Amino acid sequence: MAKKEQEGSERMQGAETSCNQARHQMWRVLWSLNVNHKIKIFIWKRLKDVVPVKELIYRRLMKGDPICSGCGEDVETLEHMLLECNRVKEIWKLAPVQWDGIQDVTRNSEVAGSSLPGCCWERDCWPNQQHPSDPGSKGLTAQPVAPRGAAPHAGRAWNITTWWTALSEAKHRVQGMEHIALTAYILWQIWKCRNNRKFNNKVQEPMQVINKAWNAWMEFNNGVKEARKCSISKTTVPPQTNGQEVRQNLENRPRGMHIRIATSWNKETKFIGYGIIAANSRGQDVIGWKMRERASESQLQQRVEGVKWALIKAAEQRWRLVCIEVPGKDLLQQIQGSKTANMWIATLINDIRELSTMFYKCSFCLGKYNRNDLSCLFSAQALSNYHDLEWVNPNLLY
Ligand SMILES: [Zn+2]
Repeated sequence: MAKKEQEGSERMQGAETSCNQARHQMWRVLWSLNVNHKIKIFIWKRLKDVVPVKELIYRRLMKGDPICSGCGEDVETLEHMLLECNRVKEIWKLAPVQWDGIQDVTRNSEVAGSSLPGCCWERDCWPNQQHPSDPGSKGLTAQPVAPRGAAPHAGRAWNITTWWTALSEAKHRVQGMEHIALTAYILWQIWKCRNNRKFNNKVQEPMQVINKAWNAWMEFNNGVKEARKCSISKTTVPPQTNGQEVRQNLENRPRGMHIRIATSWNKETKFIGYGIIAANSRGQDVIGWKMRERASESQLQQRVEGVKWALIKAAEQRWRLVCIEVPGKDLLQQIQGSKTANMWIATLINDIRELSTMFYKCSFCLGKYNRNDLSCLFSAQALSNYHDLEWVNPNLLY
């Protein structure tokens, strides 16, 4: 009897470990996806179940009507909105990636990459279009043609997290990461389509949604290629300050990577440039990014967004110990909870707190503003870049 109990408990522990491993892998796959950082945040939020779909609003606030405004038939849960709604199924039918029956896989405890249902990348289905990883791909102009296959079907013993966890197993396949990346773009466009219908009364055709997802994905891929071509040595980097000042600053410095964030704003173009620099515990700048975004409402909001992008970059690098140098005392106080923020900023700060739990240790401290800092230089340069650029300190490669 005791032996049986022990076996049972071992089995339970084994199942828990494999479940944790699958979740761990799910996050790893998400952060390493070759997609825009906004898409990563979008998927992350869905997996954290913090999206205000009608069912959630109704359940939490007892407000409104939980029925999907797309089909008018079912309750709008996250799964319904992204996968099960009849309108959404029409979109998935046209998608060049198919995950038929993946819900069935998620019902089984054994989730193996080889047993995943038919995600297909039918080159024949996209006759005029080369895959973005193919050399010489032109990509953006050709229109997709519907492949065979069916949309994801209904099932109750699964949710978006188990669905995405199972789908993450496809990373082991040839072009698996690309299938997942495109899937992320499709989900993003489905969400945008739903919001357009709900808030602007605009209805989009399924093929329009797929085309938008495909084009956004292709555009990102082409941007990445261009960014790779852009020589790192073209970036003029001021010599790092050495000597006493650095040594003093390094005293009491927490271990791990230290990330600095700077923002530059162009009033005319209404764009904001982010410069993000990560330094190691010896104070050496290791890697950096120049990112350009549409400027948000307030400067505070822009800085909060900057902290969010810094955390995403740290997750992509798989760093475990991270210290974020927050630009601005007020923002730091709000992140640390000693000062209250307005509702909109509070939502963003909540994201930051949630994201910070991905690391073994993530701390926040006050960043010192120095307009000669590399992060400031990068943020100004980012304004003239169309695509995000990554910079790796060439002096540290040897
Ligand atoms: Zn519906």
